[in-house]
Amino acid sequence: MIIVLKPNAEKERQEQLIDWLKNLNIGVHVSVGEFQTVLGLIGDTAKVDVDLIGSLDIVDSVKRVSETFKCANRKFHPEDTVIQVGKLKIGGGNFCTIAGPCSVESEEQIVSIAEAVKAAGANMLRGGAFKPRTSPYDFQGLKAEGIELLKIAREKTGLPIVTEIMNLTDLPLFEDVDVLQVGARNTQNFDLLKELGQTRKPILLKRGLSGTLKELLMSAEYIMANGNENVILCERGIRTYSDYLRNTLDLSAVPMLHELTHLPVIVDPSHATGIARIVPPMAMAATACGCDGLIIEVHNDPPRALCDGAQSLRPEDFAELMRKVRSVREAVK
Ligand code: PEP
Ligand code: MN
Repeated sequence: MIIVLKPNAEKERQEQLIDWLKNLNIGVHVSVGEFQTVLGLIGDTAKVDVDLIGSLDIVDSVKRVSETFKCANRKFHPEDTVIQVGKLKIGGGNFCTIAGPCSVESEEQIVSIAEAVKAAGANMLRGGAFKPRTSPYDFQGLKAEGIELLKIAREKTGLPIVTEIMNLTDLPLFEDVDVLQVGARNTQNFDLLKELGQTRKPILLKRGLSGTLKELLMSAEYIMANGNENVILCERGIRTYSDYLRNTLDLSAVPMLHELTHLPVIVDPSHATGIARIVPPMAMAATACGCDGLIIEVHNDPPRALCDGAQSLRPEDFAELMRKVRSVREAVK
C-alpha cells in the first residue's frame, strides 16, 4: 500500500501516522521527494482501513500496490535513486561507465588496463577475482590476491573498484571493495542476497541467466528488505535460442525497469553478446534507450586473456566507443 501525503502535511502529524502504522506491525518506507512525501507500507496491510487513512487531512491519496516487490517499486519511491560510490553518482541522470578485464590476472595487467580505461573516460574499474566458470578446469580467478591487485590499481588511478562475490563466507575479503557484483549465476542465491542486505555496500545485481524482470526485482528486494537500498540493476543478456551470440541482449528491459523501479539500470553488452565487434553497437543502443551506465570488458591483450578474451575490447577500441557513447548521449538528451 502507498500513502501519498499532501505537500503541506505537518511533520508532527506525519510522525503520528507513521507511529500508528508501525504499532500495527507494518514497515513504513518514507520517500521524501521534491514535491511530495510517499509512505510505502510493507507487511500485512489487510488490517489497514484504506478509507480511514484516505480521510485524514494530511493524506492526498491511498493505493494498494499489487506487485510483490515493495522497496524496489517506483510507486514507493517515485524519484530515481542515485547511488553514491565515493564522489561518483549513478542514476537519476548520472551516467557511469565501468570497464576492465573479465579477470584480474596480474598487477601489470590490471594497472595498465585501469590506466587505459581511465584515460578513455571510464568512471570505475571492473575485474573478477572470484570467477564463476562453467568448467572447473578453467581459470578460477586469483581470489584474495586479485582483490589486493584491484586495490593497487585503484590507488594508482583513483577509480573505484567493482568485483564479484560468489560466496557469503568471502564477505570479509570485500570490506574495502567499492561495489560488490552479484553475477548472473548467483542472482537467486538468496542467502547471499540477504547477507549483502546487511551491509551498506553498493551492489551491482545482474539479471539471472534466464531470469525474468520480476525475478530480478525480487532479488533486489531481498537485498533492500534487509536494509541495503544501494542496488544497481544490470541487464547482461538472457538465454534464448540465439545461436551466433552468447546471449540475447534484452534492451527493452531498460525502459521497462525504469517504469517499474527507481533503481539505476546499467547494461553489460560484453556478456550479452560474447563478441568484441558486436559490443560497440549494442553499447550505443543501450545508451540510446536510456540506461544509467555500461559495464564493458576491456583487455590489453585479448587473445591471451585468461577469461572472455573474445568479447574484450582493446583499450583503443574502448576509447573510440567512449567517444561514440558521449555523442549518443548528446543526441538523445
Ligand atoms: C562477469 O561480469 O565477468 C560475469 C561473470 O558476468 P555474468 O555474471 O553476467 O555472467
Ligand atoms: Mn566475463
